[in-house]
Amino acid sequence: MLRAYDYTEKSLNNTYMHDDSLFREEKRIAQEYVLMHPIKNEGKGACPICGSYKSRFVFARWDIDYRMCCKCKSIYVPTQKDVIEEYLHLDEMRKFRESDSFQESMSFRRTRYWSDFVSWLKYRTYRYLGKNEDITILDIGNKYRGMVERIGDSDNNWDYIYVESPDDCLGKSAENADVVLYLNQLQHEANPIESLKSMGNTLKEGGLLVLNTRLGSGFDILTLKGGAEDIFPYEHITLPSREGLQMILEKSGFKLLEITTPGTRDMDIVLKNKDRIDEENFFVKYLLDTADNRTLADFQQFLQKSGLSSFAQIVAMKESVNG
Ligand SMILES: [Zn+2]
Repeated sequence: MLRAYDYTEKSLNNTYMHDDSLFREEKRIAQEYVLMHPIKNEGKGACPICGSYKSRFVFARWDIDYRMCCKCKSIYVPTQKDVIEEYLHLDEMRKFRESDSFQESMSFRRTRYWSDFVSWLKYRTYRYLGKNEDITILDIGNKYRGMVERIGDSDNNWDYIYVESPDDCLGKSAENADVVLYLNQLQHEANPIESLKSMGNTLKEGGLLVLNTRLGSGFDILTLKGGAEDIFPYEHITLPSREGLQMILEKSGFKLLEITTPGTRDMDIVLKNKDRIDEENFFVKYLLDTADNRTLADFQQFLQKSGLSSFAQIVAMKESVNG
């Protein structure tokens, strides 16, 4: 399995892709909902990744507790299914994300990344399926209109199908897709294994699942206990560790082919939020106080290569019934 960062890939989360004012508005809508619908689970809930009930408190955001599973080290919010479901279908959020101002800003900032992604995808399908044309691609819940257009572009010679959520996979003809795309969605899955299984049902044997997610084991998330405010309820309720991610893929019938963490900004983010690092985190504080730029860049490269950055890109293959 390929673990290390592939240096031919571009950075996937540079600052330019981020629109501050739109991000603040997304967060405001989420916060308003969370404050009106606090999860009242007194119990700590089971880990959505491995099912263990042993966990410890890591951080709270808007009075919602994020816990770390003692067994698989994933970070999660103990969920209350109906509250999360309602959040995912929140009318205000849907309208905001579908608005022209949101979509146009994203297209303006991300067009190059989307083109790079399509090239990356062609390379991956050729590598693992032996072809990069005449394939059926099922894209689940992609929220960017421009990206949908870019992937669905007829020049790619792909049969492109878009559905809104994993639940919609049930209606699709079984075992038809060569590739399933599940981008930036795992983070709000209360039951990731169930969703991954329904995606598996739409894939041909040997078909590919391409997903990306934030990892609870990422350097910036653990050092800043929740990252630079960009992790928030109920948008992010499941942040698997690398090991946890491998576990849910295997439980859902997939073999992990690649996990890369091409992030380039962990050190930058941590440095900018230095005052939020625990006093007892002596090593990281020392590093940030004394290291020169070269050392910081080397450290970031080490995080990438070791899969310890918080943004992960994954390629997995549907296993044959006989394993
Ligand atoms: Zn766990």
